[in-house]
Amino acid sequence: MLLRQVEYARPETVDEAVRLLSSREDARALAGGQSLVNVMKIRVAAPELVVDLNRIEELRAIETGSGGELVIGAMATYDGLIRSDAVHAARPILSEVALTIADVQVRNRGTVGGNLCVNDPTNHLPPLMATMGATMTIRALESQRTVTADEFFEGVYLTAVTPGEMLTRVTVPALAAGEGDGWASVALGRDGTGIVNVAATVRDGRARIAIGCVSAVPVVVEADADEVAVPKAVAEAGLDPPDDVHASADYRRHLAQVLAWRAVQQALEGAA
Ligand SMILES: Cc1cc2nc3c(=O)[nH]c(=O)nc-3n(C[C@H](O)[C@H](O)[C@H](O)COP(=O)(O)OP(=O)(O)OC[C@H]3O[C@@H](n4cnc5c(N)ncnc54)[C@H](O)[C@@H]3O)c2cc1C
Repeated sequence: MLLRQVEYARPETVDEAVRLLSSREDARALAGGQSLVNVMKIRVAAPELVVDLNRIEELRAIETGSGGELVIGAMATYDGLIRSDAVHAARPILSEVALTIADVQVRNRGTVGGNLCVNDPTNHLPPLMATMGATMTIRALESQRTVTADEFFEGVYLTAVTPGEMLTRVTVPALAAGEGDGWASVALGRDGTGIVNVAATVRDGRARIAIGCVSAVPVVVEADADEVAVPKAVAEAGLDPPDDVHASADYRRHLAQVLAWRAVQQALEGAA
């Protein structure tokens, strides 16, 4: 048998989902299933209850809030980001980057909530959320809280979402006048897993840069948005990236500096 026996529930509302997730110690939300089902297959995860969020329509919405901010439901897919007019208007980088994630099948099923909650250090969305000033809304049985991206990402496969809770939405401020976003990545082959990913947001000559694949959580660095200050700030960030079969730690450190400046250059073009 491929999977261990598991109970399965398919709620239609957030209230029902949270009630189910709180009903067992090891209940797990199922979003796109691209990570969860794989770890269940190899028995790294063996939840008693899987709570499938795919029927909760309100979690799929991508909307513009009253202040122009982008409100992304946790079950919005990468394909949803690519096609969303609200994303194109408020934060087009999200759509551009989503288009480079893996392949069509992954983009059709993979969700924003799943990507953030799994917090794989090589995932594309955590560094982006970290530079854009996104906030995450987490529902518990009797309460709701909103945390910053810096508070949300806690470690490899570890976030501020605790058992019994679920991420319901991500709120991203719209680009302000004179602000721009950028992204640069070197991956294993075309659209493969990142060796180093960098997101940057520039405003008033300052860059906020988030580097992925070099630590358990995105490493955030701030610097003047110029060709000397950006690599220098990254070099001085004390990066301690993994050294593995795909790339040495030194190569990743070098890439982080080069890609940070590329991402900042794109952000500067957008800000102009
Ligand atoms: C071949 C392949 C290549 C890939 N390449 C990339 C890549 O290059 N870059 C990239 O970013 N991603 C990549 N991915 C990962 C993919 O993006 C996954 O979709 C993502 O990591 C998990 O999203 P999901 O919606 O499938 O979540 P699931 O697998 O369903 O869930 C992942 C975890 O998050 C939890 N969870 C999900 N939603 C919620 C919620 N709302 N509240 C609380 N907990 C929740 C689940 O319980 C589970 O623990 C790849 C996947 C595959 C299969």
